[in-house]
Amino acid sequence: MGDVLAGLPTDRLFIDGDWVTGRPADRFETHDPATGRLLAEVAGADESDVDAAVDAARRAFERGPWARMMPTDRANILWRIGELIEQHGAEIAELETRDQGAPVEDKKAFDVANAAAHFRYYAGWCTKLDGQTLAVSVPDVTYETRRIPVGVCALITPWNVPLMMAAWKLGPALAAGNTVVLKPAEQAPLSTLRLAQLCEEAGLPTGVLNVLTGGPVVGKALVRHPGVDKVSFTGSVEVGRDIHRVASDTFKRLSLELGGKAPSVIAPDADIDTVVRANLASGLINAGQTCAAYTRFYVHSTVVDEFGSKMAEAAQHIRLGNGLDASTEMGPLVSQEHLDRVDGYVRKGISEGATLLTGGARAGGDLSEGFFYEPTIFTDVKDDMAIVRDEIFGPVLSILSFDDIDDVVARANDSRYGLNAAVWTRDLTFAKRVSEGIRAGAVYINSGPLQDPAAPWGGMRSSGIGREMGREGINAYTEVKGIWTSFA
Ligand code: NAD
Repeated sequence: MGDVLAGLPTDRLFIDGDWVTGRPADRFETHDPATGRLLAEVAGADESDVDAAVDAARRAFERGPWARMMPTDRANILWRIGELIEQHGAEIAELETRDQGAPVEDKKAFDVANAAAHFRYYAGWCTKLDGQTLAVSVPDVTYETRRIPVGVCALITPWNVPLMMAAWKLGPALAAGNTVVLKPAEQAPLSTLRLAQLCEEAGLPTGVLNVLTGGPVVGKALVRHPGVDKVSFTGSVEVGRDIHRVASDTFKRLSLELGGKAPSVIAPDADIDTVVRANLASGLINAGQTCAAYTRFYVHSTVVDEFGSKMAEAAQHIRLGNGLDASTEMGPLVSQEHLDRVDGYVRKGISEGATLLTGGARAGGDLSEGFFYEPTIFTDVKDDMAIVRDEIFGPVLSILSFDDIDDVVARANDSRYGLNAAVWTRDLTFAKRVSEGIRAGAVYINSGPLQDPAAPWGGMRSSGIGREMGREGINAYTEVKGIWTSFA
């Protein structure tokens, strides 16, 4: 495979079907987190680029063929995007690993496959955007509903799984006939540029997809913009709150996918060896930079010591390294800034009195140039400690002990987050009481955080508003319109 960066228009913005040069003064750098070295200089959009992209999306929505195209034709283009992602999977995986850090084999097996699956799944929805005929009690009248596209959608994504996040939003937005302006995160924008090239190649009409690289100023300008009808954002709670406030000025439709702090409840009967393996993997996916990662382990007091010592032992054997190396099990954190934030939480955990079982430091030796952090496990953790309350978004896991089932459900729910949760047991009553008691968007019984395009995803409380995926994803990108017909 050649250089995956060759031919990538890193110095361009994709507006109205053209790759246009941004202002040199707005360029920013993206680095390889495994080495800290410069990967590329990337174009940064300014306010006039935001105006141009929104105008292009508006024209494409109101006058272009996309929303009026035969559903099968729209479906064929979405399907083709899925095919192209798969065809170029190895190259995209390498590009994203170099920009974001996670192991290339994980990118291929999960991120790329999941992104392709989303386009294929939503290709199927193009021909299923039906409405209802409803029995209104009005004489000589029929009433039917239709699902129509919302309009111009601003899609703002985070850096942790950039391709997949773009696919989660683009699949349903495009299937429903919307046009979009997509803004990837400034820390890892490259795979989104490649995706835009593939969308072009698949025959997506001009102006339907516009891509603006840049930082928070670009996101803010999109959220404020009067020409944007909907904002779909995945990222932090703090930014989500800001977006919620600003978007309400113009009553924009809103989907917010914010953070998580998933509890994993381990019953006294759970098979500890199996549970340790699965929970460690679920906690350290993408070096813990995953909203769905299991990070609060509530373990029954009869097995908590065994669980803790086996987790620590297994964590010490995880192979850290450059994600391009096929033997790497865990890659680096995305940036020095993020590493400092993660390390700050570890220091806080220690100062608040938690016991450090393993890890707790930046990895040294050959890895010292990159942003590698050791898998870190705390025990003797109390419910009010910052390491349990806040989303760390790194490889830092906390073990807590419980005795009573109602008590553990209440403690699991005592969090501003409510994205997902897990319970591990063979006891049906235990599984049912915990899974029904926990208030979260998804509860997994005896499994890691599985994902599928058909299964709605999103959170309660500060974890967000709305759901992506499945039929819910289509609902989020459509408005219901009623048509009354009088025969009187
Ligand atoms: P972030 O909130 O800092 O940034 C996300 C995106 O928003 C970036 O593109 C950024 O440039 C943009 N942005 C920043 N400030 C903005 C503003 N004021 N207005 C508009 N846009 C703005 O988040 P991050 O650090 O990139 O990502 C990590 C977060 O994402 C974590 O909290 C994680 O849990 C969350 N996340 C959630 C899900 C989910 O499905 N719930 C999935 C992945 C990541």
